[in-house]
Amino acid sequence: LPPDASILTGLNQPTLSSLTKYQGCTTVANAADLGKPQFNLQLDDQRITQTGLGKIEILAPTQLGVAEIASESGVTRTGPSTDYSRLTPLPKGTMVTVTGKEGEWLRLDYGAWINSKETKIITGAVAPQTVIRSVGYRRLSTATEIRFPLETAVPVSVEQGNNAFTLTLYNTTAQTDTIRLDDDPLISRLDWQQVSPKQVKYTFNLKKFQQWGYKLKYENTTLVLTLRHSPRLNKSKRLPLSNIKIVLDPGHGGKESGASGPTGYLEKDVNLIVSKLLRDELVKRGAKVVMTREDDRDVSLVERQVIINTQEPAIALSIHHNSLPDNGDAENTKGFGTFWYHSQSHSLAVFLQNYVVTNLRKPNYGVFWKNLALTRPSAAPAVLLELGFMSNPYEFEEIVNPQAQRKMASTLADGITKWFEGIYLTTEAQRTQR
Ligand SMILES: [Zn+2]
Repeated sequence: LPPDASILTGLNQPTLSSLTKYQGCTTVANAADLGKPQFNLQLDDQRITQTGLGKIEILAPTQLGVAEIASESGVTRTGPSTDYSRLTPLPKGTMVTVTGKEGEWLRLDYGAWINSKETKIITGAVAPQTVIRSVGYRRLSTATEIRFPLETAVPVSVEQGNNAFTLTLYNTTAQTDTIRLDDDPLISRLDWQQVSPKQVKYTFNLKKFQQWGYKLKYENTTLVLTLRHSPRLNKSKRLPLSNIKIVLDPGHGGKESGASGPTGYLEKDVNLIVSKLLRDELVKRGAKVVMTREDDRDVSLVERQVIINTQEPAIALSIHHNSLPDNGDAENTKGFGTFWYHSQSHSLAVFLQNYVVTNLRKPNYGVFWKNLALTRPSAAPAVLLELGFMSNPYEFEEIVNPQAQRKMASTLADGITKWFEGIYLTTEAQRTQR
């Protein structure tokens, strides 16, 4: 298959090859070091022999050990390289049995893979598993905290749906008879189920459609899930965004210049200009705005993520301008695009896309689910905006035009305001129905 980004140039179909792929399979009865494999290729009377670079070792289960997640948030994937998709990250302290290795990658017993650099290996440990009895909860002023007391920190995964938040605990067996959960601003009901012998699934049915972010961490062996409440919305005409905190992230900066336009104009500069204009528009409407940078400097992707996680804004927006790879059709590729990752960010992405495309009569580049550093934070709905294509000669004129930049900023601020207003109105309608 061509690389994932080829969806952007429409060249994402499988490429046909005249070669046929040979796959073989064998079984080995006992654990052993088989050394380097030798490959033999024979065509008529010609024969080529080559020794492989890697070595093959069949490991006994007792040799594999237990991995403890040593990084703040362990990146788990569907396979043993960064080409494979990400799964729910594992909180620091998670303990999980290793069932296989490929290079520096470890296969974990519940199916995910992780780079061994993010783990500490404990040899001779017993496979971590736990029972769960009661589940506790605490209502904080801006969030609801659910506490899962466990015997050991087991792997977890999260799924967000419409009006539902689902948490799965692996290597866990329920011995639950009581769960207290009073009427809560967020949760209408908690359902749980032992879905398979070692998997317990908790479904939080939510009162409202929009979710405002979550955090997962281990405190010793207690899993703590924090579900954020809605910010206090209001119908003030003058300051509709008062009580709303927004993180604005002007993409790139410093040594990272991003895309560049036909005149050599850099994306990092235009991102900052529009972000500052947008900040001013949002502040005028009452919002508190936190910027990840206010001048031309290096800010790493991780630093930007940390700002979102610690600031806990109502929403986070990353501002970018797009550019096509060299083989793309620069003349005909243009328009405004939005990118989201967690389900909680989808409604904002679609709303802003429609709002900007309609009100600025911008070409519609599209709404994309996309795995990006600035769409991945889970602490708040986070959307990345590509305001236009710097590689398109006509759109570039508009991108660098100060008047068009001001219009873009005020339209985005209006769109954000309207999105919050829509949530406020549906909440009020629900309240009067009850
Ligand atoms: Zn960019």
